[in-house]
Amino acid sequence: MTDRPVRVRFAPSPTGPLHIGGVRTALYNYLLARHTGGTMILRIEDTDQTRFVPGAEDYIRRSLEWCGIQLDESPWHGGAHAPYRQSERKALYMQYAQQLLDSGNAYYAFDTPEELEAMRERLKAEKVDFQYNGVMRMQMKNSLTLSADEVQRRIASGEPYVIRLKVPLKEEIRFTDLIRGHVVVQSSTIDDKVLMKSDGMPTYHLANVVDDHLMEISHVIRGEEWLPSAPLHVLLYRAFGWESTMPQFAHLPLLLKPEGEGKLSKRDGDKHGFAVFPLQWNNPETGESSRGFREDGYLPEALVNFLALLGWNPGTEQEIFSMEELIAAFSLERVNKSGAKFDINKAKWYNQQYIKEMSDEQLAGFLLQELDKQGLMCSNEKAVLVARAMKERITFIHELVSAGRFFFEAPVAYDAETVAKKWTADAAKALTAFAELLKGWQGEFTPAAVKTSLNDLLAQLGMKPGPVMPALRLAMTGSGGGPDLMDILTICGREETIRRIETAVKALA
Ligand code: GLU
Repeated sequence: MTDRPVRVRFAPSPTGPLHIGGVRTALYNYLLARHTGGTMILRIEDTDQTRFVPGAEDYIRRSLEWCGIQLDESPWHGGAHAPYRQSERKALYMQYAQQLLDSGNAYYAFDTPEELEAMRERLKAEKVDFQYNGVMRMQMKNSLTLSADEVQRRIASGEPYVIRLKVPLKEEIRFTDLIRGHVVVQSSTIDDKVLMKSDGMPTYHLANVVDDHLMEISHVIRGEEWLPSAPLHVLLYRAFGWESTMPQFAHLPLLLKPEGEGKLSKRDGDKHGFAVFPLQWNNPETGESSRGFREDGYLPEALVNFLALLGWNPGTEQEIFSMEELIAAFSLERVNKSGAKFDINKAKWYNQQYIKEMSDEQLAGFLLQELDKQGLMCSNEKAVLVARAMKERITFIHELVSAGRFFFEAPVAYDAETVAKKWTADAAKALTAFAELLKGWQGEFTPAAVKTSLNDLLAQLGMKPGPVMPALRLAMTGSGGGPDLMDILTICGREETIRRIETAVKALA
């Protein structure tokens, strides 16, 4: 089945915010779809009514949009296989469960939760783990052990029942996972999974396989946590007689904790102070809010680039990839087998690179938005200059304002340590003279021109720049460090520079 058109799906359950690992799964599906000219499908798997969380579906949609992962078929875009929400496909699953009942691949089971629990307890006493499987099913209350009349009577009287898969006793289940290689499992290790629940809803396994078949999915690309379910899914394809069009499986390596052991969880993010969700999420039920990469200041392009290389490698040294480049380079063969340690510093590095690569004008656009959020203002031209001066020094857009606040506001205080070390009476005298010089300034106020006249002035005064420059920086910014001093002066402007020098000389006298 290698020549089928590629049709892949991302199949999240709307049980909460989309974890960053889910975003990566969606991304790999998308990259394969676009690389092969195939189709990217999104299906909402919402058959577990007890785990439904309002707002989660909308969150999934907004997250994918923000990341630039485009869908061809989905609940929101429609498509030839609509509906794409499993809760809207309910009737269909019963029909397929019936097919398995008719062919003897499934059976009705009437065991109550209490009876199952009692059996579990009984076996526990004998140190045996209870499994509803090929051996046990003959001791339970189901359509294999009850007479046909009895089964009909129970169903007619409205007694609750589930439908279970009749897993063959001794069969070898083999399939090839595109990432993990050959997988062989004995059917005796698989229990008779419930396919239809007593509420008339299908379980994940049944709905997932039926839909993948009906939606003509060619590749199932999903997280490694679903690998244990794959043999059961293969059995279902067999039971339905769909083996010849069964999708190929590709189970992606886990995203691991920064320490490298175990799956990355929200708790790791909380512990180390980073997001594990693409967007901020406000839990409508608990009111709890979880941070998002977007709100933390990550650019979607940087996050996507970071995630793409977390589990996939291009086989070259190249690290920076636009979405187009990822699409061109991506293949499942280069997805790694082992888990990928989640290193937030790498994500930060990517963000830095993308900020550096932005044009001054583009970055200025982000800066103006950020200023607006904080109730600050500045002209377009100035924003471009600030962007240029700060570009190499920041990891996040919001640092343009936090680390470059002095561009927009005169310092309201001076860092005590810097004052103690750098502010001297001589420097104050030189700065006062410099302010006087600026008052009579003629010509363009450029970094080069300012630097030359400041140096000339210091030479006349018989002073070296060494002790004066840090004091000037202190007057302009309130602290030490920051971008080029002459840039700061010219961006703030001549009059503002005079004002700040005079204020500092007075305040620090
Ligand atoms: N609904 C499953 C999930 O939440 C989908 C797993 C799969 O892709 O088969 O991840």
